[in-house]
Amino acid sequence: MALQTAHGDVVQVSAAGPDAEAAIKTLAELLATGCGEAGAAPAPVEAVAIEASSLTVLRGVCASAGSAFGQVVQIAEQHLDVNEFGATPQVERDHLSRALAEALLALQQLRDTAVGSAQADIFKAHQELLEDPGLLEVAHVQIDEGKSAGFAWRAATESAATVFNSLGNALLAERAADLADVGQRVLKLILGVQDQAMELPEGAILIAEQLTPSQTAGLDTRKVLGFATVGGGATSHVAILARASGLPAICGLPVQVLGLANGTQVLLDADKGELHLDPDLAAIEQLQANRQRQQKRHQHELAHAALAACTRDGHHVEVTANIASLAEAEQAMALGGEGVGLLRSEFLYLDRNHAPSHDEQASTYSAIARALGPARNLVVRTLDVGGDKPLAYVPMDSETNPFLGMRGIRLCLERPQLLRDQFKAILSSAGLARLHIMLPMVTQLSELRLARQLLEEEALALGLTERPKLGIMIEVPAAALMADLFAPEVDFFSIGTNDLTQYTLAMDRDHPRLASQADSFHPSVLRLIASTVKAAHAHGKWVGVCGAMASETLAVPLLLGLGVDELSVSVPLIPAIKAAVREVDLLDCQAIAQQVLGLESAEQVREALQLYHEATVDTSLVLEN
Ligand code: PEP
Ligand code: MG
Repeated sequence: MALQTAHGDVVQVSAAGPDAEAAIKTLAELLATGCGEAGAAPAPVEAVAIEASSLTVLRGVCASAGSAFGQVVQIAEQHLDVNEFGATPQVERDHLSRALAEALLALQQLRDTAVGSAQADIFKAHQELLEDPGLLEVAHVQIDEGKSAGFAWRAATESAATVFNSLGNALLAERAADLADVGQRVLKLILGVQDQAMELPEGAILIAEQLTPSQTAGLDTRKVLGFATVGGGATSHVAILARASGLPAICGLPVQVLGLANGTQVLLDADKGELHLDPDLAAIEQLQANRQRQQKRHQHELAHAALAACTRDGHHVEVTANIASLAEAEQAMALGGEGVGLLRSEFLYLDRNHAPSHDEQASTYSAIARALGPARNLVVRTLDVGGDKPLAYVPMDSETNPFLGMRGIRLCLERPQLLRDQFKAILSSAGLARLHIMLPMVTQLSELRLARQLLEEEALALGLTERPKLGIMIEVPAAALMADLFAPEVDFFSIGTNDLTQYTLAMDRDHPRLASQADSFHPSVLRLIASTVKAAHAHGKWVGVCGAMASETLAVPLLLGLGVDELSVSVPLIPAIKAAVREVDLLDCQAIAQQVLGLESAEQVREALQLYHEATVDTSLVLEN
């Protein structure tokens, strides 16, 4: 059930250890006979016994790009023995609450010394888990039945993790891993088990079933070259830590990886999602050469980050930033960002019990506008919450399909005061930057008109003579298909390819099993982008792309060729995207864009773009050097 396999799926069974062969045989037979379910037709079984020692490459998925050559260091979770029964309930309750208090303190120290804000946020989330009244209640019930604090606590965290795991959602599964980690932390405190600081050799490639935040927090990351795990995914802690530290990482490797002996030399090629167990000299040299080339390219991009993003034939494309804080605005300017194409204003509203005050909002928008200055565009997107991102202070009904429910502008128009307050706060930064307001999830023309009317009323009330530009996100297929009717009534469009892809392909953007198919390079999405640009340009309006697709260098010639005027990208990628623009000719881009619009799948589009990339970009680098 946890695998969520459907009838007819191909399942690969792998096992490690002395009884691996017998285990594989039993499981394969069980699966082939329908796991005891009546009516399931037997499926063919291909039993291939593979030992770790006979494999040369193990495959997983890239969690953090890059590559490294180093030695295996296995990290295993300590098994803890727990007595089932305890002393009196009061003694055990005290025991538990002391351990929880100590754990909270230790997590605070980890937050204070974390590598970047992403890691600090993970420990904050762990602290919040410890304060969850539901967990405590389950543990107390067990203690009152005579169980020990350790036994009760472990039962409470394990049963909550099982619930998270059973919901079939990748993000919740990650939270289950967090729960297991924080559960183990408290359990060790209850049992008085000291964590031993781990001595790492130089050039370590850490291998684990699942690397937990607590395991990685105490590690000497100067000695670590990369990570490889069986569990986890792109949103897992190990992925976040690896990206924050600039280390390569692979997740989702087969369990054989846990059978590798410490000290084994391995080559971690995270870009391809491969762990080479017996790398030859040529492969190592090739990898090191690639790495040097990438580093050189990165340095080159950084050194030229301040240059405009103009194609070789002189066409300028605005490269701006997607941000969610003042710090990111400042970083974007330092990295050559030409403005902000998407300020996700949700950060001001989430994780709190009341709406942000006018002064708080106004001072944040003004500080960000000041960081940009009067010559640069600041596109503030109005609140895009609802459905899957509820606000504690806005009562909402729970919805069966939150992504198809009260999201974005729909929610704000239902609660106009929320939108009016936000407009008022945004308007207070007028003049500090070139102010643009953008509405998310617009589907109907009436939504745009109503929002414009509210904005007008707020601007009038403030006595403003000038109006900010007003645009909409194109992220619902209906808006893309009706772009010719929206265009006369907006100042600009910005295409949200993340949502546009999920709604066009009818594939949840966070669905773990659809991740590889929910691809913005699908020709259907490209056709919507093409027609949106055409409609906007016919009315003299500009079009940006602010979805994650704009941050992929492979997409640059395609989006330019489709006529997109602005690319709003993730902050660290600004120099790379600007460099990618400078390496192409607009005429070539137009030709490749026309070609791929006629293809039948996202894979075909990516292949065609890759060929184009290899033929142009690499040669230009050679020429530059
Ligand atoms: C998008 O949908 O592409 C987008 C940029 O918005 P978000 O990712 O914030 O939904
Ligand atoms: Mg969106």
